[in-house]
Amino acid sequence: MQTEIPPTAGLALIWQDFIHHKNLRLGDEIAKLLQIPTPAETCSGTVAFILSLEVLYELKPNKNQIIVPAWTCPLVILAIEKIGLIPKICDLNINALTLDPLSLQQLINDSTLAIVITHYGGLVNSFQNCEILAREYDCFLIEDSAQAMGAFNKNQSVGLRGDIGFFSLAFGKGLTSAEGGLAFSKHPEIHLRIHQKASQLPTINKWEIQRCIELWGYYFFYRPQFLSYFYGQQLRKNLQKNDEISAVGDNFSLDDIPIHSLGKWRSKVAAKASIRLTDYWNFLREQAETRIKQLQLISYLYVFEAQENTHATFPFLIILVDHPMRCQKILDDLWQSGLGITKLFVRAIPEYPNLTHLNYKTPNAQDFASRCFTITNTHWLSNEIFQHILQTLKKHESF
Ligand SMILES: *Cc1c(COP(=O)(O)O)cnc(C)c1O
Repeated sequence: MQTEIPPTAGLALIWQDFIHHKNLRLGDEIAKLLQIPTPAETCSGTVAFILSLEVLYELKPNKNQIIVPAWTCPLVILAIEKIGLIPKICDLNINALTLDPLSLQQLINDSTLAIVITHYGGLVNSFQNCEILAREYDCFLIEDSAQAMGAFNKNQSVGLRGDIGFFSLAFGKGLTSAEGGLAFSKHPEIHLRIHQKASQLPTINKWEIQRCIELWGYYFFYRPQFLSYFYGQQLRKNLQKNDEISAVGDNFSLDDIPIHSLGKWRSKVAAKASIRLTDYWNFLREQAETRIKQLQLISYLYVFEAQENTHATFPFLIILVDHPMRCQKILDDLWQSGLGITKLFVRAIPEYPNLTHLNYKTPNAQDFASRCFTITNTHWLSNEIFQHILQTLKKHESF
């Protein structure tokens, strides 16, 4: 069986993670680690986002529109629709992960409840003029930090600059509890309301048992010798059918959002594992910085780096190629190689078959999606294999 390097730097579990003190709580550990108010725990990042939206909608019930980037996880859109709010899809700037100010200006109005700012790939994203707009239109800022736990802007964790921040604990996002989410707010009243909502989440045994088994599975099988069974084979099968959306797992529907609590046992396992996060993030940052320098020597590509005064965690490297054809050729060579190369979101939001009712033109995000791929930053990607990837990428300089 082929070895399979995971596409993101998930934090592997060790047996000690399963032995814990009875008072250990994930929220408390993360609060200490990141210097944030103790976050509320939920069954997923998506549900952390849903509870956040519900709280904000209670505070401003005359506003029901949420502005979201056109390149993001489809679950974010489904979450908004699931609770009857209206997603407004904002294009990105050309060649960038930031919101296009023109598009934003056109979408924002007195019905705007919140703008979502997404921190991609462990990088702190720019707020640009969002704070000024939010003040002008009396709306909130939500920081989608699903991919960016541990990212800091100056000395402040992501999620503290906006009104609400949330993290994901899904497989592959870093720290995991086999699906899970955390939400918090710097405003005591909003924070309290998020906690109240989280405490009302039902326990659903069917889901909890399944997730506990998955967490054990993660402990045993999250390693290159087994990952082909649980990830690679499925990826390759879908790519061979030309189904890129299923290949990266972007094929979500409304039924994919169960709403329940995060079980105590899973929370404790993640809490114990979180003790290793600081060292892990430091390792990832150093590895990423060295590798980004090498990638930058390739003329046709751009690698997203940490902005000045920010601290990124780099679960993977986000790479933008100059031409969609060149990107396709690179992926033809490397996507099925088991070396941790993939795409993040394969389409712009309005291009997903189940989201076509969102009739938006977002050419920049569409273009970005067609030219973007990612390289894993897991410690399992050795220097030797990274050099092999570099050589392959250099080969594509002439095409
Ligand atoms: C994964 C992800 C989410 C959803 O988190 P889940 O824990 O999978 O529900 C939301 N936003 C972004 C940007 C993500 O990458």
